[in-house]
Amino acid sequence: MIVNSDNQSISHVLPELGIRETNPSFITGQESGESPGGQLLDVFSPIDGQKIASVKMIEETEYNQVVEKAQKAFDFWRKKPAPYRGEIVRQIGVALRKYKDSLGKLVTYEMGKIYQEGLGEVQEMIDICDFAVGLSRQLYGLSMHSERPNHRMYEQYHPLGIVGVISAFNFPVAVWSWNAMIAAVCGDVVIWKPSEKTPLTAIACQNIIKDVLKENDLPEGIFNLVIGDAKIGAAISSDKRIPLVSATGSTRMGKKVGETVAARMGKSLLELGGNNAIIVTENANIEMAIRAAVFGAVGTAGQRCTSTRRLIVHENVFDQVKKRLLDIYPSLSIGNPLEEGTLVGPLIDKDAVNSFTAGIKKAKEEGGEVLIGGEILEGPGYESGTYVKPSIVIAESNFEIVQEETFAPILYLIKYKGGIANAVEIQNNVRQGLSSSIFSDNIQETEYFLSHLGSDCGIANVNIGTSGAEIGGAFGGEKETGGGRESGSDAWKVYMRRQTNTINFGTELPLAQGIKFEI
Ligand code: NAD
Repeated sequence: MIVNSDNQSISHVLPELGIRETNPSFITGQESGESPGGQLLDVFSPIDGQKIASVKMIEETEYNQVVEKAQKAFDFWRKKPAPYRGEIVRQIGVALRKYKDSLGKLVTYEMGKIYQEGLGEVQEMIDICDFAVGLSRQLYGLSMHSERPNHRMYEQYHPLGIVGVISAFNFPVAVWSWNAMIAAVCGDVVIWKPSEKTPLTAIACQNIIKDVLKENDLPEGIFNLVIGDAKIGAAISSDKRIPLVSATGSTRMGKKVGETVAARMGKSLLELGGNNAIIVTENANIEMAIRAAVFGAVGTAGQRCTSTRRLIVHENVFDQVKKRLLDIYPSLSIGNPLEEGTLVGPLIDKDAVNSFTAGIKKAKEEGGEVLIGGEILEGPGYESGTYVKPSIVIAESNFEIVQEETFAPILYLIKYKGGIANAVEIQNNVRQGLSSSIFSDNIQETEYFLSHLGSDCGIANVNIGTSGAEIGGAFGGEKETGGGRESGSDAWKVYMRRQTNTINFGTELPLAQGIKFEI
């Protein structure tokens, strides 16, 4: 790895997280300088456009070594009792607490989200560790009453093997930890392919974990890291040695991964794009709705899978909502996300900026009215060309562009007339089904929204925005969002294989369904 040590903003954080030129590659155990071949991947900060480091991408031969190492580690790890595995995850949580500030800062520098959100992301990792520790004593199966006399039936869960985790740039570390910590207590081992846009935070996590493994005399192959682009993701998808692939990213990517994994009868857990809406009825607390909508639309510069993309507002309060948004948007501080007070940081790169401007252009062509924003910021502090002014566009729900997830801060303001059923119809009328919310103090409206006639999304909130989920619930969405669930609740079951056991403690052999088979 080649680290740019002139980089003032972050230079002190990198060594603290073990990121230095002679960083071990975590792959073959060699120093990265010694690893054969391996194209260099340049890592830039979206904050100032500076190159932070160049990291070697994994080669095919090295990839196979990683898988073999993981297989060996699985053989060891699955034999450990689940509460012991939980104890190791507890120690990882303690280590993450120690590195919260520096890792949070690196998340901000590499990905561009504001420092508060960078810290929040690491907190989410700590929270999932705590959750997984408890879970390590609760991997329950059910017991059932057998229809046959002197028989007992129950189910148990066994570890699966290697879990491949392909993650997106926007939650560079939290999403991996949702998968990896749960998988670890379940007795699985993990091979992580982070986004090629954010490999450094992944390396930092690997360093933190490595120390914990070493202190406990455990093999490194329990948690593996492979750095590379889509090709490595594709190799994981088609690899029969990997029974479960958990992939987070665009629907385009998820369709490919899902097809490839299904073709080899593997399991996939897909967490894909969203197109999330808040419904604001005429019975809403408007101030609360506005705060939630602004955080949802411009937080993480609109680059959350749960970002609010559509605000569906009743005609009687439409002008009021529009006015309040237009009061707030001009005062949003846009700039360096490491600085206190900044609310909107940069987009990840210039491609993201291009898709933002293309989205606005398309919305205009389809008849949308841009109320505010849409420009690329220039001048001091904005030299990287990655800062944009968040935009609000009055739109119709059937615009093509409204059907798409533009991963940028564009909020479509959509008017609805009549009752809650009309609002829900608009809200559900997109291909994606991740997060949704309603603001209303009317129980008939909120209960309709939550009923089987209501939101078709994996997440449906009342008087809370679309973004900012807690780890305790199962996270994921329907339709083109992929149907996967990870994180809390019983999402752990995906990481294990279920076995039904029937035991006959009698001296006869009765058959199920009363079948007679006399020999
Ligand atoms: P992306 O699809 O471009 O990349 C995601 C990951 O997939 C990267 O690691 C990438 O290298 C890999 N990849 C790309 N093509 C692949 C292929 N053909 N085979 C295997 N791997 C491949 O997404 P992104 O731009 O990094 O992230 C933004 C997207 O992620 C948005 O659509 C967002 O909604 C989604 N996302 C969803 C969730 C969720 O939980 N539903 C969470 C975060 C992000």
